[in-house]
Amino acid sequence: KNMIEIDNVSFSYDNGKTNTLKNISLGCLEKRVTAFIGPSGCGKSTLLRCLNRMNDLVETSAVTEGEIRIMGQNINGRDVDPIELRKNVGMVFQKYNPFPKSIYDNVAYGLRIQGIKSKSTLDEAVERSLKGAALWDEVKDRLKDSALGLSGGQQQRLCIARSIAVQPKVLLMDEPCSALDPIATAKVEELMNELRKDYTIVIVTHSMQQATRISDRTAFFYLGELIEFDDTAKIFSNP
Ligand code: ADP
Ligand code: ADP
Repeated sequence: KNMIEIDNVSFSYDNGKTNTLKNISLGCLEKRVTAFIGPSGCGKSTLLRCLNRMNDLVETSAVTEGEIRIMGQNINGRDVDPIELRKNVGMVFQKYNPFPKSIYDNVAYGLRIQGIKSKSTLDEAVERSLKGAALWDEVKDRLKDSALGLSGGQQQRLCIARSIAVQPKVLLMDEPCSALDPIATAKVEELMNELRKDYTIVIVTHSMQQATRISDRTAFFYLGELIEFDDTAKIFSNP
């Protein structure tokens, strides 16, 4: 079953003068990992940012055509509140970006925005999320310390914990490992193999090896067009 349906989507940053994405259609299966792959500038991140309405808020002259449905709902409608949408669609960035706050406050952030105040509820959610991000054992004795004291790999897993704290359905990841060393990368990939049991994941990566290791399906983009979309094993089996 498709969690995300991208239906004939075109996207322009400059009101139609140049089309960064051209007639893209694909579906992302529920609780599977879909990889977006292709050379730099082909539009992978742009399409990812269409899935949580990040583009149209930042770019005033951005135009999105076509439909994107998440859990059957068209998210491109004027009536859709991007803040509500993002409760179901979390995002993790390449340049991990914990807030300059404590580890605890980073993870509790989204829950507090939702109005949750009870300390025991927050404590439980913080522990669950840090465990879910395979970070609990490393930080449980220093939850009040600044998140900025963590290593790069730990900061990225903290950002994953922050995303999953609000229990979204979809997790978008934009080159989540490209700022990490090989050991931290392996940890995040191992974590993704756990997260895939609970979340529908879409990951942008420039690495075919990474797509092979962690994704079920791969969409290959070139110059704003979808060139190939199939099971990852099939895409990379032919020489
Ligand atoms: P990829 O993720 O595949 O490297 P992007 O989606 O980042 O590609 O970029 C696709 C194209 O859109 C590139 O030509 C890029 O220069 C352009 N682009 C990306 N972001 C913006 C923006 N905020 N404003 C205008 N053009 C952009
Ligand atoms: P990673 O491979 O995750 O990027 P680093 O090489 O950056 O890790 O860090 C290795 C170790 O050093 C980690 O255990 C981390 O906790 C610690 N560390 C990294 N940066 C800092 C910092 N600014 N303050 C305190 N400890 C740090």
